[in-house]
Amino acid sequence: MIRVTIWNEYLHEQESKKIAAVYPKGIHNALAEGIRGDGLEIATATLEEPEHGLTEERLKNTDVLIWWGHKGHLRVEDAIVDRVQQRVIEGMGLIVSHSGHKSKIFRKLMGTSGSLKWREVGEKERLWAVNPSHPIVKGVGPYIELEHEEMYGEHFDVPEPLETVFISWFAGGEVFRSGITYQRGQGRIFYFRPGHETYPTYYNKQVLQVIGNAVRWAAAANPSEVVYGKVPPLETLN
Ligand code: ZN
Repeated sequence: MIRVTIWNEYLHEQESKKIAAVYPKGIHNALAEGIRGDGLEIATATLEEPEHGLTEERLKNTDVLIWWGHKGHLRVEDAIVDRVQQRVIEGMGLIVSHSGHKSKIFRKLMGTSGSLKWREVGEKERLWAVNPSHPIVKGVGPYIELEHEEMYGEHFDVPEPLETVFISWFAGGEVFRSGITYQRGQGRIFYFRPGHETYPTYYNKQVLQVIGNAVRWAAAANPSEVVYGKVPPLETLN
């Protein structure tokens, strides 16, 4: 079993009727229902729970963490961010979605600002699978078309990715590296762009397929226990 925790700040859905109409049970539960399938054991956690729902115990029992945050980035406590970072280094997978590009955890793991250009007019987005043999695009086809999404445009201030899996085109003319991978320590990281809270993106079958694939890809890192620090020599040294 792959143990997945879906973390959502869960503020917009409680504060806006318009957004609650799209995600009545919150983005975290929409995602949980959308990716539920063989081999996945799914839990959720939200900002306002004690320790943001990300206790030592919860993270120890998480193989892959999915992160959705936006307006509450600065309310996430640094100690919890450190805890998540430590688990990534130990091998926990992390999938950062949409506005998570500005989350503390993503910026900490990237070492850059995570800044980008944006525009919210509900234009069309087409995500091209530019790495067709990558496990994250399995079963998705050559592209995903989203009729209405927020635009994110280059330049995206992130380190050069390990792999670029999707590149988005927007009706307004911009392009964006919308599916990119990293490794930090033993942990695999996938950033996936779409998922603005006012659009039903997390009900799109292809989007859910990508996230489900990414969970399985990130969990396949197969982390092992490594001992660091002072060690005796293996050979006799004079
Ligand atoms: Zn957004």
